[in-house]
Amino acid sequence: MNTPLERAGAVLTIDLDAIAANYRLLREKAEGAECAAVVKANAYGLGAAAVARRLIVEGCTTFFVAHLGEAIDLRAALGEGPDIFVLNGTPPGTARDFLAARAIPVVNSLAELAEWRALAAESGAVMPAALQVDSGMSRLGMAPEEAALLAEDPSLIAGIDVRLVMSHLACADEPGHSANMAQVSEFERLRRILPEARASLANSSGVFLGKAFRHDLVRPGAALYGINPVPGKRNPMRPVVSLKARVVQLREVPQGAGIGYGHALHADAPMRLATLSIGYADGWPRGPRAGAFCGDAPLPLAGRVSMDSIVVDATGLSDDVLWQGAFVDMICANQTVDDVAAASGTIGYEILCSLGRRFHRIYLGDRSVAGDQTP
Ligand SMILES: *Cc1c(COP(=O)(O)O)cnc(C)c1O
Repeated sequence: MNTPLERAGAVLTIDLDAIAANYRLLREKAEGAECAAVVKANAYGLGAAAVARRLIVEGCTTFFVAHLGEAIDLRAALGEGPDIFVLNGTPPGTARDFLAARAIPVVNSLAELAEWRALAAESGAVMPAALQVDSGMSRLGMAPEEAALLAEDPSLIAGIDVRLVMSHLACADEPGHSANMAQVSEFERLRRILPEARASLANSSGVFLGKAFRHDLVRPGAALYGINPVPGKRNPMRPVVSLKARVVQLREVPQGAGIGYGHALHADAPMRLATLSIGYADGWPRGPRAGAFCGDAPLPLAGRVSMDSIVVDATGLSDDVLWQGAFVDMICANQTVDDVAAASGTIGYEILCSLGRRFHRIYLGDRSVAGDQTP
């Protein structure tokens, strides 16, 4: 039998030590605020259980996911210790599953709060919850009018242990955007409804916006995974993922040859082409101009991205540099996740989240169970 690595068309390497280093940097930047970790969407595609276990070693005790299902899986992986918050609230009738998983809902409306309160009354226990207020993003959280009702009527939170009052920034990656200060002021106003509760506003980029944004707890996701939280400036985070794809075929084509679907490219001179085992079914963006690298030599994309393969221009690279079965670099120092995103008209977040159900995955720096490489 071949090993999974020998069979692999592409290999995604996830450096948990780099995630740990990024966590330590964010915690330092948080200057005394607690640093939680957002591991929704399977830790942006990188493996929520492996990431969270590694961050627990660094002292992280608070995690955020988006869905109850994610919280249930994460609780099973992590055991009883850490807090797990669920950002997308409580679908009707799910309160008991929340309790069973000891997941803490982020309550986004008074209606949701009522359901949670009823459960508290019924069970006679105090129910932990986070309250989200909308400070100006218009996506999730109680509207200011709902918050005002809450301020007038404390019975609305009877039986509820408000563990966090939170809100989310719409424009944190644009430090000069006037919405940032407007959101801080609005959040300060709304959080006064529950002055005793801990407060949280900042995502990754928010951590870098200054002290006014950090409150009691910060919620970075993307920066943990190496995405630049300060676009336009040098990325302070360590790169976390590298991606290699295998050369499945090499060919020489004459001038005028049509390449790939739609003949979107014709060779304007004789070319050497390499077909790589990665395509849009693996999450490699179809719209892009991102190619590959062989060492420091760029291999520009030739024609369209197919479902399972792409063709790159390897003209000038001989068989001893690039051979059938060799791996070339798709995400590496020469072409970061943010570079691939920029070449594809999207953001690094989307690239990471999309990558690879078919890739062979290698985790570096797993400090949990010896030999355990489960994602
Ligand atoms: C996704 C998310 C985060 C993390 O955002 P990043 O930009 O990835 O750091 C924090 N808070 C909320 C409410 C989110 O939805």
